[in-house]
Amino acid sequence: MGLRKTELFRHLSCQVENNATCYDLKCAALNAGDLECLGRLNQVIAPIPDPGLEMPVEGQYRSMVPQLVLELDGNNINYLPSVLFSVENLTFLSLARNGLSYLPSRINRLRNLKSLVLTSNRLGSLPASLLDLMSPRGKLERLDVWGNPFVDNKDVSEYNEYVSLFRSRLLMDSSLEVSHVLWPLFEGAGERQKECLWAIAFLHAQAQAIKEQGRDGELLLYKRSVAFTPITYYDLAGQKMKGSKDLPQSAEDTFEFVIRTDRGDFASTKIDFAPPASAAPSLVELCLRSVLKEESPGEVRRLLSQEIPYAVDKGLVFAEDNVAEQFSLTLSCDYCSKEYIVPRAAFIEFRVFDFEIIPLKWKVCSWQCAQEWHDKFGPGKTFRLV
Ligand SMILES: [Zn+2]
Repeated sequence: MGLRKTELFRHLSCQVENNATCYDLKCAALNAGDLECLGRLNQVIAPIPDPGLEMPVEGQYRSMVPQLVLELDGNNINYLPSVLFSVENLTFLSLARNGLSYLPSRINRLRNLKSLVLTSNRLGSLPASLLDLMSPRGKLERLDVWGNPFVDNKDVSEYNEYVSLFRSRLLMDSSLEVSHVLWPLFEGAGERQKECLWAIAFLHAQAQAIKEQGRDGELLLYKRSVAFTPITYYDLAGQKMKGSKDLPQSAEDTFEFVIRTDRGDFASTKIDFAPPASAAPSLVELCLRSVLKEESPGEVRRLLSQEIPYAVDKGLVFAEDNVAEQFSLTLSCDYCSKEYIVPRAAFIEFRVFDFEIIPLKWKVCSWQCAQEWHDKFGPGKTFRLV
């Protein structure tokens, strides 16, 4: 045990014994490996009530569940260890200014999170499982993500001028066709057309919220889906299918996206590639899943010696990567929740949260799951190409 780790353990143990609920570990030069003792936070119980003020009346019991605050800002944490996701009573988690390049989908285990701060990390997208923490399923009220190389990170406040203009027109005349206000805006945008698409995406979501909910539209804008990238399909070895669009990795990439509106879909590209949908896992995937229940990927390699078929080899690489990133050999499909090793399709959905457009990455177990998702929530008929 290194000195830093020992110190942290001692510091934490002392606080846990006193049932402290706030853990300030900011700028303590901690790395991910130092955080193993965070599991101790599960021993904390809610503070004892003040007998003068808060004694329960007869038949009433106080809750033992604490609201834990954990601040890890300004450390050297480049991945989140699995123990963190066992601290179920975490209510406030702050990880600003670390080196995080991905957020494990297991974040949805932290069911009590009300506030998640991820400012100034290296995140390219967020896992779709984050939706489990948002209303109505979860309690998340605050999500701070600025300062990440997000895929085309957009701050909605850029469009405030349009938004208020648009809002006042809609409130005056609720029968107004949304598209009639939006398209002239787009057509006048000239070279800034792509940028303008984002404004339209946001304004459209705003307009729908106002139409459905009247003047509370702004509140209901939270979590609204505004756009999607085309589905990226992978073969059974996890290689991108020929003809399939690339999944954007960073804000520097140029990428295509589709906005769903009340008149159809507005696309920045022509999307015509879709392999036949199938929900059946490949034989390789099925065999790998069953053998990996008994043996480690390393042992499977040893047993197969040098004659490892390509798809099996890639499957084992994926399984190893899954452990490194998500703590288990198999992942859970973001659409149907079934287990899989190699994702067969992925896409990014953009949602408005806290007046920012955040990219959520969906990874699914089969081509059919991706297509079902799109049929249900995604774009329908594309009516105009840019
Ligand atoms: Zn699935």
